[in-house]
Amino acid sequence: MFLFAPKNRRIFHAIALACICVSTVFIACPGHADQPTISNPAETRNGSGKENQKVAIVIDDFGNNMDGTTEMLNLPIPLTVAVMPFLPSTKKDATLAHQKNHQVFVHLPMEPVRGKKSWLGPGAITTDLSNEEIRRRVHAAINDVPYAIGVNNHMGSKATADERVMRVVLEVCREHGLAFLDSRTTTKSVIAKLAKEMGVPYMENRLFLDDVYSTRHITRQMERLCKSLDSNNGNYIAIGHVGPPGKKTAEVLRQYIPRLKQTAEMVYASQLKRAYSENEEKTPSSSE
Ligand SMILES: [Zn+2]
Repeated sequence: MFLFAPKNRRIFHAIALACICVSTVFIACPGHADQPTISNPAETRNGSGKENQKVAIVIDDFGNNMDGTTEMLNLPIPLTVAVMPFLPSTKKDATLAHQKNHQVFVHLPMEPVRGKKSWLGPGAITTDLSNEEIRRRVHAAINDVPYAIGVNNHMGSKATADERVMRVVLEVCREHGLAFLDSRTTTKSVIAKLAKEMGVPYMENRLFLDDVYSTRHITRQMERLCKSLDSNNGNYIAIGHVGPPGKKTAEVLRQYIPRLKQTAEMVYASQLKRAYSENEEKTPSSSE
């Protein structure tokens, strides 16, 4: 229940962001950009037409009155809002997101390779649980977040690599008719393989926007996103956060709205499930 204690919130964020920081090494584009600038959209278009490109922005970690919640929800673009279950503002944030025409996902806390299980908060999915208990917890989490049409993992570098655990999680998603977005906090994730086998709608994160809390880094990640879209490199899902980087991420997103809209059609994460499976089949697997 540490999430209710303000003095411990810093620990939660440190662990969560440390987790996504590791994952960015393989999700983000390789190489290092110079100090990025927001360039003129007209100069960056390649003439291919934005109807071929789609981008979904997912914002994680709602549900605990996190910094940047209001700024994010007020952005005039379609967001996919991932809300953690069983927390003080879970229902308020999910309801507000729905009212503002954002899409709601359950942000399911799942066990990481490093860190204490207790840092995950209530209802977490850990690899020491029985199938029955995992099933009970996923049902409860889905039922606790109103308007949810999908699930994605909070942390989870250990649990999403565990085939037994993920099979149960995806079974429950299928029973509820929910899609699963793999946040990709580990290269060892078994979600893609299982989702395809089980017929569960599936999407995959490609880029963390704010794994470092500086405006400079978030801007650099937005540049990477726009350049990937410009080069016809497929549809994209990118994940940002409320919490420590929330206000900065919301401000950078606001500045980039014209560029994003010029570059691609902005959609909800669930709208990319079909496009993603097509792309996955065309793209050679990584070196893992
Ligand atoms: Zn998270």
